[in-house]
Order: sequence, then structure tokens, then C-alpha cells
Amino acid sequence: MSSPSTRRLLKESSDLHKNPSPYFTAAPISDTNLHDWHFTLAGPPSPSPYAQGLYHGRITFPATYPLRPPSFRFLTPSGRFEVNREICLSISGHHEETWQPAWGQGQVGGMEGSDELRREYARLSLGWSCRECGVGNLEAMRELWGVCLERGIEVEDEIAAVGGSAGVDAGVEGQRETVEAEAEAAAPASEGGCCSCWK
Ligand SMILES: [Zn+2]
Repeated sequence: MSSPSTRRLLKESSDLHKNPSPYFTAAPISDTNLHDWHFTLAGPPSPSPYAQGLYHGRITFPATYPLRPPSFRFLTPSGRFEVNREICLSISGHHEETWQPAWGQGQVGGMEGSDELRREYARLSLGWSCRECGVGNLEAMRELWGVCLERGIEVEDEIAAVGGSAGVDAGVEGQRETVEAEAEAAAPASEGGCCSCWK
């Protein structure tokens, strides 16, 4: 049970807990399997089409972690990453800065949605919750921002305003079908397996 991999993951989980970021939260989905985590991530700032969106996904750590990298999947539709498909991210862990390049172009598992579609998904993402772990994006992040504020960690205005006025209202539900149809039409940007871009 106490393999180097497990000890490392326990430490990372505890570090993340001790030093919370207002942009990113992640935890193992059960106490018995530390190699399967779910995360919730705030989109990059404006003018990004993902600004004020919240995205949930899965991190799978191999038994040989940290010698081998974890793999990532997004579960919340974004118009950027295919849902529940392994994506190639050359990030090493849990700091939000390392996520920023992932929103750029060209990753395996990326897709070509229009900015309009991506903005629509960003709005819809606030009402999204995970069927597997039961976490709601907005609830999870609000809890996190509460913790950050208590500890004197700055939460930028744009982030703190997420879900404040627009977004999670009745109008959003009605738009969902349109967006899903449009999303199906958006073809994946690339094919093939994950590259070995782990650094
Ligand atoms: Zn989840």
C-alpha cells in the first residue's frame, strides 16, 4: 500500500490542501485509490473564450508515478478538449500556471470549436456536475474561493464574479441542445495517440 508512488500522491494531495489555488482544485476520488483524481479548473482570463468557465476532469496516475506522467481527461465540454478522451499535456502537476498553455492550439485531443461555441460552453459549465464524483463545478469552486479568502489568498475579481449574475439561469438550459448539436459537428483537430511530450 505504501509504495513510493502512493506516498508521493499522499504528499501532493496534502500540499494542495495546505496551499490552495483559487484556480485549481483536485483530489483523489476515493481513499482507497490514490491514483485516480478528479479536478476542477477555472478557464484562463479574458479575452479567452474559456474565461469564467469552470472545467472538471480526471487525472490518472500510473503505478510508476512520478517516473511516468499522469494522463488527463476533461469531462466538462469546453469546445477545446474532447470529452473523456486522453489529452496530451506537458504539465507536471497542480499549479494553475502550468495549465495555461494547454488552452492554446494544437494538442492531441483538441478540437476546433468556434469561439462562440466555446463561450457558450463556458457559460454552461457553471451548471455542470460530475456524474462520477458528484462534484458541481460552481459549488466546488465557491467552496475553494471561500477557503482562499479565509487564508488571505487573493482571488481575482474576474474569477470571484463567476456565477454571480449571468450563467446559471433558466435560459441556459434551453441553449444546451443547440450547443450539443453544434459540438457534434465540430470535428476533432487531430487523430492518433498521445505524444511523448512529458518533460
Ligand atoms: Zn468528478
